[in-house]
Amino acid sequence: MSLAEQAAPESFSNAPSKPSLVGLTRAGLADALREIGTPEREIRMRVSQLWHWIYFHGVRNFDAMLNVSKAMRQKLAEHFSLARAEVVEEQVSADGTRKWLIRMAPVDKFDKGAEVECVYIPEADRGTLCVSSQVGCTLNCTFCHTGTQRLVRNLTTPEIVSQLIVARERLGDFPGLTPPDNGLIPSGEGVRAVSNIVFMGMGEPLYNFENVRDAVEIFSDGDGLSLSKRRITVSTSGVVPEIERLGAESGAALAISLHAVRDELRDRLVPLNKKYPIKELLQACRDYPGASNARRITFEYVMLKGVNDSPAEARELVRLLKGIPAKINLIPFNPWPGAPYECSDWGTIEKFSDIVFNAGYASPVRTPRGRDILAACGQLKSETEKLRARARMAAELD
Ligand code: SAH
Ligand code: SF4
Repeated sequence: MSLAEQAAPESFSNAPSKPSLVGLTRAGLADALREIGTPEREIRMRVSQLWHWIYFHGVRNFDAMLNVSKAMRQKLAEHFSLARAEVVEEQVSADGTRKWLIRMAPVDKFDKGAEVECVYIPEADRGTLCVSSQVGCTLNCTFCHTGTQRLVRNLTTPEIVSQLIVARERLGDFPGLTPPDNGLIPSGEGVRAVSNIVFMGMGEPLYNFENVRDAVEIFSDGDGLSLSKRRITVSTSGVVPEIERLGAESGAALAISLHAVRDELRDRLVPLNKKYPIKELLQACRDYPGASNARRITFEYVMLKGVNDSPAEARELVRLLKGIPAKINLIPFNPWPGAPYECSDWGTIEKFSDIVFNAGYASPVRTPRGRDILAACGQLKSETEKLRARARMAAELD
């Protein structure tokens, strides 16, 4: 038995014996229907029906698909499932932030089901879901906990989409479900439990371009999950060659993890900078299709004590971004055990933010949310992965 098997959970209630239709694109659903011999002239109509039941209603079984004939429902159930990811652990912060450990349906009988973390942040007028695009990350930014995780793989489109589906189920946000009763989920006329999505969980989304692009397409489809593309933000550490493609092929909003204004420092914080330095990165932002004053690019800047937080760096930041329709987001560093940095003092952050504010950028400091449950940016790293690492270490010592 391999170590991974030893350390993995024993049972998978969601282990599918049949492929799941949840998370497929329209083209994927059409292919699935063809596989079971659906006549070509019916495909479009059947895809629309399935789409509506899966993404608008969030149904869990084929019998609920009332406008699909009984024979067709039976045939679908014989060949496919509606299995989706499952929440295996939930933590709710005092401020209403929720962190879920989500286990994906295994892709085949050898797969144990990838695990990722996903964070939900409720505010009065919006709810933001922070989704993961990979298990772990290969990029090793020195201030980020995810980058220290050894296990890395891309999530499939269904695995990315599943995060929103299980979040909405948990929040009682599909027709017929009731929200959990703690009053912290935004509600009211025109307010949705999940109105915004940020790809700021685990992983580098632009290293998983096609799957992220297709997931954005599914999130924003008006007949299903129906999120506005303007409210879907893809955050990248600066994979320059894919930035233009993101704008052209997905139309999602762009966020750049800048964190430093000089190459020498950015090389250390975000090692990918050695490949794509600041000048090239900012040129890609200037050229980003669809960026305008109404659709600004967000620049994230993590505040690291004594490293990148001087007034001179704030002024240089403003100078560098001149001419780019930009928002600046100062993120207080979220410490994790063994991290080689500290968060800047509050006074230093205020000084930095004043300089940025006086240059015309509104309220640039991001309030840390869910700190009590380690749910903030860069802290996501699954517990299970830690347990597995421990099991691996124990076995190495044997
Ligand atoms: N890989 C992508 C998206 C995931 S990281 C990226 O790097 O942009 C999401 C954001 O969290 C990034 O801006 C990242 O730099 C930031 N981040 C990572 N670790 C952090 C930490 N410990 N404290 C604060 N922000 C952090
Ligand atoms: Fe990866 Fe983003 Fe973390 Fe860097 S900050 S290691 S790119 S997840």
